[in-house]
Amino acid sequence: MTDPSLAPEIALASDLFDALRAASLDAPGVTRASYGPGERAAHALAAEAARRAGLLVEWDAVGTLRATLPGRDRGLPAVAIGSHLDSVPHGGNFDGAAGVVMGLAAAAHRARRGMRGARDLVVLGIRAEEMCWFPAHYLGSRAAFGLLPREAPETLRRADSGRTLAEHMAEEGFDPGIIRQGRATLDPTGLRCFLEPHIEQGPALLAEGLPVAVVTGIRGSLRYPRAAVHGENAHAGAVPRAHRRDAALAAVALIAALDARWAAWEAAGRDLVCTAGILATDPAHHAPTKIPGTLRFSLDIRSEDAELLAEIDAWLHEEAARLEAARGVRFDFGPPTHAAPAVMDEGLRAALRESAARAGVAVREMASGAGHDCATFAGLGIPSAMLFLRNANGSHNPDEAMAMEDFAAGLAVLSGALDGLMA
Ligand SMILES: [Zn+2]
Repeated sequence: MTDPSLAPEIALASDLFDALRAASLDAPGVTRASYGPGERAAHALAAEAARRAGLLVEWDAVGTLRATLPGRDRGLPAVAIGSHLDSVPHGGNFDGAAGVVMGLAAAAHRARRGMRGARDLVVLGIRAEEMCWFPAHYLGSRAAFGLLPREAPETLRRADSGRTLAEHMAEEGFDPGIIRQGRATLDPTGLRCFLEPHIEQGPALLAEGLPVAVVTGIRGSLRYPRAAVHGENAHAGAVPRAHRRDAALAAVALIAALDARWAAWEAAGRDLVCTAGILATDPAHHAPTKIPGTLRFSLDIRSEDAELLAEIDAWLHEEAARLEAARGVRFDFGPPTHAAPAVMDEGLRAALRESAARAGVAVREMASGAGHDCATFAGLGIPSAMLFLRNANGSHNPDEAMAMEDFAAGLAVLSGALDGLMA
């Protein structure tokens, strides 16, 4: 136990995690569809816990839960803590929920001890972050800030139901008209900062024996989801090497060259991860005895460094041109998607590091490879930061495993940082 005074809030959090799991159980795992029943149940439980802690509870017109511990001057920009309450189908109990529960625990702690700050402390339960339901990044946070395209309520359909965002929002009692009018329910100038605690979705903290990390930034991405190489189908035995136009070998050569460059960039201290998640010859034409004439592949390249992403994009096209000349193939990368990296606020990062040092919690700093709502806040110029909590088995699966001791360590770090931020 890091700080004995946090014990009642650790118990509150533990009970709330249990209740969340029970209310959205969908074996194996939990299912909390965006603007669906599991998310609704999670919001109701979080709101109930907030009311019991003495916080003011409301939902805005797009369904963002706001649980507020009022400050002495309610006109001052508020400190916000939060994350999302939806999950992937058959997901884990902690991705998203851990951030909301930690925000509630921190606010409950201050309420119980009569620690009213100068400004409001607001815990946000954000809607619809998991992209598997509606095909849009950070749907709920962008809806709250009025950043979605006005046609989104009609054009976005939920993957499981096929019904529109407008229908699902209305069914949950919220107003898609706000999005159609381009109106915001959250005002960036009303927020002093945003803090998002979240489970780590990779193995770094577990491997290093650390409970908590302070996030340096959220990686941006360059993606080619529908790339292809075109060569020529031909007989595997009859065509000599010089006459082959082998699409598979050309794609593999490109990916191997990218891997070698990645190792060099990483050795030079630059933040980068690269993945070719799809790599497939055409099942209508492929055979063990055929030189593959077409290969479809995807590239997902992420970095905290926007310049590096641009540099890699240029390098990819140069390397592809070289391979086209050498191998008689044609690369067609298809349309790219870009997401800008989000930089976490250095002042907040320092506050979290210093709080960790005071609490005796060992931390490291690391980039976030996955996207988070925090990127929406940072993109609007709101000083933003994230805490990662040690978690085994990755995320988006039923085996997410965050220990309550690590949650307690994270809560101690967050609570300590709040003392300064609330002034
Ligand atoms: Zn998440």
